[in-house]
Amino acid sequence: MPQISSNLLRLRAEIPEGVRLVAVSKFHPVEAVREAYAAGQRIFGESRVDEVVAKAAAMPPDCIWHFIGHVQTNKLRRLIPVVHVIESVDSERLLRLISAEAARIGRTVDVLLQVHVAAEETKTGFLPDDLIECARVCESLPNVRVRGVMGMATNTDSLDRIAADFEAIAECGARLRRVIPDATELSMGMSGDWPIAVAHGATLVRIGTDIFGSRS
Ligand SMILES: *Cc1c(COP(=O)(O)O)cnc(C)c1O
Repeated sequence: MPQISSNLLRLRAEIPEGVRLVAVSKFHPVEAVREAYAAGQRIFGESRVDEVVAKAAAMPPDCIWHFIGHVQTNKLRRLIPVVHVIESVDSERLLRLISAEAARIGRTVDVLLQVHVAAEETKTGFLPDDLIECARVCESLPNVRVRGVMGMATNTDSLDRIAADFEAIAECGARLRRVIPDATELSMGMSGDWPIAVAHGATLVRIGTDIFGSRS
């Protein structure tokens, strides 16, 4: 897998300073994660609890694990000890459960609130108004720290639509910051569209395919 390190080098040269890269290693074996680690990558994105738990156990402790998939609440107890950031918080109920579980083991978990702006019904997340409602609830939850928003653009060839979606996500981030000033992270942009996301203010880009190749 020597191309993993060259892909990372190329991406790092292209991504502007101040934007962090989440290497989305989901569905790829731990050997691929090791290759990326050897090339200096430390932040990894995973979408399944079993997988992130296994990879975190196999990798050095300075890896930073971002969870970007649907959270099955019955697996939260296993997720919370290993995860650093849960980017895919899409309900107030989930936020409360994360806080309760984090409190149980005496830690605080960073989260991003996922916002739904894309055309696809299959994508999840808060509608913009509900996001702000939820942000107010967060203030009473001591064991979660809301750091910003995460979103995805519509899967389309229309660059205008993609740009409009990222603009809408950035706008949600700006509204959130009026309630929670520390919520400065804007996680948006994937392999196909990250340069557009960066142009709209992304602070985190989540890239899988362009680093690790296609997923089986
Ligand atoms: C899989 C996934 C990515 C990475 O997608 P690529 O197209 O492989 O770069 C980014 N964000 C989320 C939420 C994902 O589920």
